[in-house]
Amino acid sequence: MKIWIYFVVYTIIVFVLLWFFQIMFLENFYQNMKISDVLEEGRFLAEQYVNDNISSEEYEQILNASSMKNDMCIEIIDKYTRSMYSKKAFGDCILHSRDNNLNRLVSEIKSSESGEILYRGVNRYSNIESFIYGRILSKNGKHYGYLFLNTPIEPVSSTVSIIKRQLMIITFILIMIAFIISIYVSKKIASPIVGITKSAKKLANGKYDVEFEGKGYLEAKELADTLTYAGKQISKVDTLQRDLIANVSHDLRTPLTMLKAYAEMIRDLSGNNPQKREEHLGIIIEETDRLTMLVNDMLDLSKLESGKQTLCCTEFEITEKMHDIIDRFKGVSEKMGYNIHFTPDEQRIVYCDIVKIEQVIYNLINNAINYTGKDKQVYVTQINLPDGVRIEVRDTGDGIEEDKIKLIFDKYYRSENHKREVIGTGLGLSIVKAILKMHNYDYGVNSVIGKGSVFWFTIKNKH
Ligand code: ADP
Repeated sequence: MKIWIYFVVYTIIVFVLLWFFQIMFLENFYQNMKISDVLEEGRFLAEQYVNDNISSEEYEQILNASSMKNDMCIEIIDKYTRSMYSKKAFGDCILHSRDNNLNRLVSEIKSSESGEILYRGVNRYSNIESFIYGRILSKNGKHYGYLFLNTPIEPVSSTVSIIKRQLMIITFILIMIAFIISIYVSKKIASPIVGITKSAKKLANGKYDVEFEGKGYLEAKELADTLTYAGKQISKVDTLQRDLIANVSHDLRTPLTMLKAYAEMIRDLSGNNPQKREEHLGIIIEETDRLTMLVNDMLDLSKLESGKQTLCCTEFEITEKMHDIIDRFKGVSEKMGYNIHFTPDEQRIVYCDIVKIEQVIYNLINNAINYTGKDKQVYVTQINLPDGVRIEVRDTGDGIEEDKIKLIFDKYYRSENHKREVIGTGLGLSIVKAILKMHNYDYGVNSVIGKGSVFWFTIKNKH
């Protein structure tokens, strides 16, 4: 349904409710008011009647004024039902001494406890619906007669009907105004959304640089900005993914070509030459390792990112573990001349998922070896802090530019100038980030161009 229809339906409901309650309560309210007026006036007139300080002329004046003011017929009869005063404010008042009704009313007053009666009835002469009030007139046990008041309800219903009509007109006018405002407002709300939807369709079709425009109001503008940002992010991921395919296929193709070439060489040339064959087989094994590493990294990351992995935390001694990990690089260190210096702190038991944290440390040292400077030095430091243990891995390489630091933890990001001899998948740091985030550990990089980088993270104490 269009948005303006909701507005109009809402307005109609509000007015119908308002109208309904107004009319219902108005009628009741008017009637209650009238009843209380009649009672008050009746009691007042009865009091004045028996007041010795008021002459009969004065009393006549009081009756006239009351009859005029309240639109009331007033009738006072003596105890023998003879008429004493009779004021007619409208038509033929219901009460008259000739009326047979009178005897009935008198006996009702007599039998009532309070000495007064009030009911609603229809004037049999004028057919006007009215309130009839009757009261005994007595003082100090002396019985003077009866007071009767008769006031039509007619003004109530006619007032209500006037108000009803007025309300109807007002309701109609307001609904029309609401209708116009609704169309205007809904257009204002809907038009940026229509524009945003159009742009979103373009985005869905792969046009990532589409600009979302949210004119008019703040929420639409915010939505548009968020979508533009989302578009940019998707575009970034898309570029990264493309780069990844290029990188990965390059990284896959190179070892595969080598594998094929060396396998062919063994078949055709070196098969019978044990020394050459060994050398070629060595290369085949190395290249296979390279492939395995790439595939393993991809699998690790996708497992970590699937959110299905849980932490399996245990307690262990960190310094010992660091020695273990560094020992695993012995082969590289000895063969290629790298030096890994470890500066431990005092023994400390930490509590975390040992397998995963091992992988973090391994990846960081691996990167440091890959990117360190010509001196081939890597420095690993354990620093015990009050709230945990900080591990730092420092190299003496080229360092990382400020704007690149934000990117290196992204999936598949690899610096453009990475060299073939630097074996990498662009996934190592993404795995590091995923594991540290799972543990909720702080991590970061401090890097100085030309001097090297320090990658660090803190294993928090067990709570
Ligand atoms: P890679 O397999 O390319 O090393 P990583 O995710 O481990 O993938 O690293 C992403 C990028 O971060 C690397 O390509 C490199 O540009 C940069 N990088 C990582 N470690 C270092 C380091 N110690 N010194 C300089 N640059 C680094």
